[in-house]
Amino acid sequence: MNARETTMGTFSFISGHMCLDFANTLGGLRGGVTREYLCSYDDFVAWSQQVHSITEEHAINLLHEAELHPDKAVVVLENARMLREVIYRIFAAVATDMQPTEADLTILNAEIGKAMAGGRIISVADGFRWEWPGDSRALDQMFGPIMRSTAELLTSPERSLVRECASTTCSWLFVDRTKNHRRRWCTMTGCGNVAKVRRYRQQQRQQPVRAGERDGKG
Ligand SMILES: [Zn+2]
Repeated sequence: MNARETTMGTFSFISGHMCLDFANTLGGLRGGVTREYLCSYDDFVAWSQQVHSITEEHAINLLHEAELHPDKAVVVLENARMLREVIYRIFAAVATDMQPTEADLTILNAEIGKAMAGGRIISVADGFRWEWPGDSRALDQMFGPIMRSTAELLTSPERSLVRECASTTCSWLFVDRTKNHRRRWCTMTGCGNVAKVRRYRQQQRQQPVRAGERDGKG
């Protein structure tokens, strides 16, 4: 079974950082109309494979394990959604220069502790890198890379470039790496375009109508 075939929706990777892409697996507006992209454990596996935090071989093993232990897979999926909202709230606060809540930081720290456990430094051609061998059958192994990505962004200067989409129907987060740091929309083809069309229509309405046009005589 190929993990790619299990994707229930098309994931977006527009944020510029893995942990924010993970937060963006809930579309729409938090507190309003939302769209769930992590509909199943298989979706979580597919997402992780697409961000290259697990290999295809890993993904196939995990899907097999999940079939053997469906109850455990459901718990992992629920935890994934819970952690996603913790990550979202923390970065949504950061984006508006607010402090995340202690409760969210406590959950984050507990998960980061687990994510860093079992890590080791290995020697590679151009230096050293972290490796987390772990148990390749552990259904929750995808949390590790997400939590490490969260810790990395929170402690990096790029934290100050985290933004939330300015749309009133979208809660997506992203790192604003534009030159003037004035990016407002998650995507220009999505929310940016909707805003552009709305602005255009408003301008059209505000323009004074000439007498001939009003009479339909042109
Ligand atoms: Zn948006």
